[in-house]
Amino acid sequence: MRLLTRYVIVGNGAAGTACAEELRKNDPSSQVILFTDEPYPLYNRVSLRHYLKGEIPERKVFVRDIPWHEKYGIDFRPETPVVALDAAGHTVTTARGEKIAYDRLLIATGGTPTPLAVPSGDARGVMYLQTMRDARLLEDVLPAARHAVVVGGSYLAYNFADIFRHWGLATTWLIRGPAFLRRDLDVTAGALADTLAAEAGVQVIHGEEVAAVQVDDGRVRAVTTTGGRTIAADLVGAGIGLTMNLGFARGQVEIHRGVVVDASLRTSSPDIFAAGDVAEFPEPITGALMLAGTWDNAAAQGRLAARNMMGGHDTYQNIPEHNTDFFASQITVMGITPDVRTDLESVARLDDTGRNYRRLFFWEDRLVGAVLIGNRKGKLKLLQMIRDKLPITGPREALLDPEALS
Ligand SMILES: Cc1cc2nc3c(=O)[nH]c(=O)nc-3n(C[C@H](O)[C@H](O)[C@H](O)COP(=O)(O)OP(=O)(O)OC[C@H]3O[C@@H](n4cnc5c(N)ncnc54)[C@H](O)[C@@H]3O)c2cc1C
Repeated sequence: MRLLTRYVIVGNGAAGTACAEELRKNDPSSQVILFTDEPYPLYNRVSLRHYLKGEIPERKVFVRDIPWHEKYGIDFRPETPVVALDAAGHTVTTARGEKIAYDRLLIATGGTPTPLAVPSGDARGVMYLQTMRDARLLEDVLPAARHAVVVGGSYLAYNFADIFRHWGLATTWLIRGPAFLRRDLDVTAGALADTLAAEAGVQVIHGEEVAAVQVDDGRVRAVTTTGGRTIAADLVGAGIGLTMNLGFARGQVEIHRGVVVDASLRTSSPDIFAAGDVAEFPEPITGALMLAGTWDNAAAQGRLAARNMMGGHDTYQNIPEHNTDFFASQITVMGITPDVRTDLESVARLDDTGRNYRRLFFWEDRLVGAVLIGNRKGKLKLLQMIRDKLPITGPREALLDPEALS
């Protein structure tokens, strides 16, 4: 019989590793077992792009090493996929055939890039960017490449576009919808995003998808599109979404688009929690279920899950926020947008320079979300208003003026 509480964590990304650290700091007599199917300790996926652009060395991508786990007494198990979960029996089974009992379990398994499901979509030269392994594969092929096609309308696709143009590749970006981040940006903002891409040397084509990848002599040569074009490509960067890694948990906890949790990050099974990209949680603004794909969210949820796994009763209150450069500009998306719920109203404005855009989202009488491109003045004020949940009594358009906010 075990005397110590045993915490098992599946996935050692930002969420899983933060959870392990928090558990060991606050419950030093417990056992913490941290599984990952990857060979590495925690590394920063956000940094992969900067590594591939030569802005940081590989060692800077890694944020934890093996001695760190030893120092904290975390039983780190790399290259050990968890393949089954028995919630009633409180056990997980690994691909090595071990059955491990737990008292509390965290699912923090993130997602895997959705594959490009077209003829020859699995050819060498069709690239993904989620793991260090993906980055190393890309690093090997970038120097010889001349032409690239990017597929997808979200941040992952932007990563490819930015890397490819940094390497001087002639880059065409296929976006199926009418705009980059089509649920967050309207047509005006989408046109601004296209202009920013074009100024960086990336040509954006909307409304077309890859119909097939053309391969010659085992190598990618071109893509044909659903619009009938043939575009030269040595590399295809596929950024068409993530499929959550939750197969091992099916039938054991409630699953929708991710692993469904309540505000305390507890799943439908009381001793199982979920955090990070894989967790579908009630956002704290209107309570709608959402998936969040950010580093800060994953780490904060990992820490909060740890506190609740130790018996706490905290609820997740962080306002979702994503900040990124976008070619020569920057984009912030905060709070909730039509990506999370479709019944929002919005007001938007592009300023006189045509370079700065903002769109604000309202639910009932409250400000609940915002998109800022370019000038981010007043961002903290908007964030505070979202957090405060107070009724907006004046004209909504007044909030579009950055000077009035600051
Ligand atoms: C290229 C790129 C750029 C990004 N840019 C930004 C950005 O600018 N800003 C931002 O905030 N966020 C960004 N993100 C998103 C951010 O990196 C993620 O939201 C965050 O890393 C998610 O952490 P996580 O712990 O939830 O999951 P992950 O980091 O995905 O970790 C999950 C781990 O679990 C492992 N695993 C899966 N299944 C199993 C299993 N059955 N058994 C064992 N292990 C398993 C996975 O292999 C993985 O190692 C970016 C992501 C990528 C890929």
